[in-house]
Amino acid sequence: MTLKERLHKAAQRTRVIRYKAYKRVGVAKHRHKIDFSLFLIILWCLATLPFFILPTKEYTSETLSSVSIPVPVGTNPEAEEVVHEDLGDAPVEQEQQASLIELEKRAQLGEVSVDIQSLQKGDSLLSVLADENISATERLDIAEAFELLIDLRALQLGTPVMFFKDAETNTILGVSIQIKPDETVSALREENGSWTPFSQASRIESHTTRLTGSVERTFAGSAAKALVPESIITQVINALDGEVDFQSDIHAGDTFDVIFETKTTQSGLEIGAKQLLFIGLQLKDKNIYRYYYTDHTGTPGFYDARGKSGEKVLLKRPLKARARLSSPYGRRRHPVLLYEIFHHGVDLAAPKGTPIMAAADGTILQIGRKGAYGKYIRIKHDGNYYTAYGHMNGYRADLKPRSKVKRGEVIGYVGSTGRSTGPHLHFEVWKGNKTVPPFGHNAIPSKQLKNFELEQFVAFAEGLHPDYIWQAAGTIPDVPPPKPIFK
Ligand SMILES: [Zn+2]
Repeated sequence: MTLKERLHKAAQRTRVIRYKAYKRVGVAKHRHKIDFSLFLIILWCLATLPFFILPTKEYTSETLSSVSIPVPVGTNPEAEEVVHEDLGDAPVEQEQQASLIELEKRAQLGEVSVDIQSLQKGDSLLSVLADENISATERLDIAEAFELLIDLRALQLGTPVMFFKDAETNTILGVSIQIKPDETVSALREENGSWTPFSQASRIESHTTRLTGSVERTFAGSAAKALVPESIITQVINALDGEVDFQSDIHAGDTFDVIFETKTTQSGLEIGAKQLLFIGLQLKDKNIYRYYYTDHTGTPGFYDARGKSGEKVLLKRPLKARARLSSPYGRRRHPVLLYEIFHHGVDLAAPKGTPIMAAADGTILQIGRKGAYGKYIRIKHDGNYYTAYGHMNGYRADLKPRSKVKRGEVIGYVGSTGRSTGPHLHFEVWKGNKTVPPFGHNAIPSKQLKNFELEQFVAFAEGLHPDYIWQAAGTIPDVPPPKPIFK
């Protein structure tokens, strides 16, 4: 730690100690005024100090003796105790970190529930605390505690915020904000209901796991047998959707090779979802390798070993149930308005509450009521595609404008809001500023990584998979690579 960092730490610590002391006597609200007054007093003391300690000729022995000299701290046992508690630097922080680890351990036992939100545009700590149903007074207490250490207005978009709650009573117990990749600031609720903030080096670790196996009957069954987590199996199926038919293309004896990432805190508490990083399938007549890579614009996607992304076909019926086409795309007589009108989408009749999925990966542009559309979502996709969803009954709770969604992810539910005669999804696909038939071939074209980006991709893939070179060359070794030897 540099001297500057040490001073910064010390300043933070004294701020917290002062805050706690004010809180104890119930004057935390006026702490800025008190701080300022104390500052003035200290300034005055410093300014007048020379007159007290530098005896000048004008001082007589009487005036000197009337100056009260503070008792050295070390000789007064009472004072020493106070000093110990108030200065309490490293031990107090270690204690706080220990209580956080304790919380995480209880979370792994299921006694404490953990929620993670990442800050979206328009969010503040207060608004995400409100989303977590935390009472108004407690929200202010928590924000006030964090304000001692960080500038809450300077939090970056995407900053992850973790909430620890008692699983039974739902009482908030702690909040952790990862302000930088290597720094986390947390505040924990103390027994008396007050909040104490502390910062620490980040404790998030990333682990990759590789699992391989061969197919006995189905891919999903065999992967589950090889201990591939269910969420990863779903990600594999979604990643290869449109390329591999998991019913007819997979045969007994085909092999799979999966690498995924898990993020945990140092005590082993898993945070966020597991992410598929690589899928390899050796099928009867072809080998498929896909790497999950985030390009320089921050958009993640799956690429083959040569850095080419697959073509992504838009879902034609973005519903999680069978749906009847109740009105096709094109010219038609409007059921409510009773005159000829161009129908810019398809109507898919389905029971109220049927989950609606995003037709492709994309970003939410609009979410909210929109005239005759009722409750409405519009999503922007790559390749100049947009999709729109109308007459919804409601939205998935955490979605906002600019939220990222993945193909097949639930975004809301079928309803009959707006100008509608019964529960159905009105679904539109736009290419640029024109609608196109949703049942036509709508695909986001594949993309080839180039130059610098390709180099980065190759470095990433090489580091991730030991056989990458062979995959990229289009050949796989005749014999499986030797098992690593542990000495
Ligand atoms: Zn319609």
